[in-house]
Amino acid sequence: MNIIPLAEVRQPALPRFAKGSVWLVGAGPGDPGLITVLGLRALEQADVVLYDALANEALLDLARPGAQRIFAGKRAGSKSIRQDQIIAQMIAFARRKKRVLRLKGGDPFVFGRGAEEALALAEAHIPFRVVPGVTAGIGGLAYAGIPLTHRDTNHAVTFITGHGVDGGLPDLDWRALSKGASTLVFYMARTVAGEIAAKLIAAGRDANEPAAVIANASLPDQTVAVTTVAGLGPAAAAFSGPTMLVVGANVGLRERLAWTAKRSPSHRLESRATA
Ligand code: SAH
Repeated sequence: MNIIPLAEVRQPALPRFAKGSVWLVGAGPGDPGLITVLGLRALEQADVVLYDALANEALLDLARPGAQRIFAGKRAGSKSIRQDQIIAQMIAFARRKKRVLRLKGGDPFVFGRGAEEALALAEAHIPFRVVPGVTAGIGGLAYAGIPLTHRDTNHAVTFITGHGVDGGLPDLDWRALSKGASTLVFYMARTVAGEIAAKLIAAGRDANEPAAVIANASLPDQTVAVTTVAGLGPAAAAFSGPTMLVVGANVGLRERLAWTAKRSPSHRLESRATA
């Protein structure tokens, strides 16, 4: 029998974080436990960590003690470093042979401008790696007890952003969206939830279909409201913080699957309001 030394089992061969390179690392939706093993190893080696407002600061405690931590916050409405400054900083540190870790909320390549950052690095000939993360539209829903799919409820999912390049709701084909996928998951849509609901209903979506609003998913102050498409606007208006909207029959499964509601009091803050 072949016995594999435990150390080898515990430490899979992971790529080395080379000096002068940038890693775009997904931090997950909030719970620090949701970072990947590769992301964690990168934190332990990085010289500089440029982190977003959405990345849980608890993760910074896991960075190498000597690492420089730089807040590169971007949150709707608040003062933040400009995107081009973040890119310029990453490039400058990499050229100074630092191991640069760009810590981004969720998955770096889902609605978070990570692709823009990677494109700028490619253009500047800076070696980079993308370390995927658990995106809010998947992990956040799981923490809310809403499975992204179940074969009895939906065979497709559409991820949509409520925030276009010019700030407002992007120009979308609402009729196609309404008909195309049974489950719709919206990012960056808290302030436009009423507008989204109106467009969906006008495009033929049932106003009484189950819908949910999830704020601060996977964090101690996670809040979930189960409502209907018509109720999305008022439900979202009562919430603050990063928020997901979900429309679809799979929302109904939460009734039996709201596992976070059963955890310790610090992890529950349930709102069953807003029908
Ligand atoms: N790259 C990120 C998304 C960045 S866009 C990801 O993959 O998750 C920012 C939006 O993500 C927020 O407006 C919100 O819609 C969503 N989001 C991120 N973290 C969240 C959380 N903990 N709870 C609810 N929504 C979250």
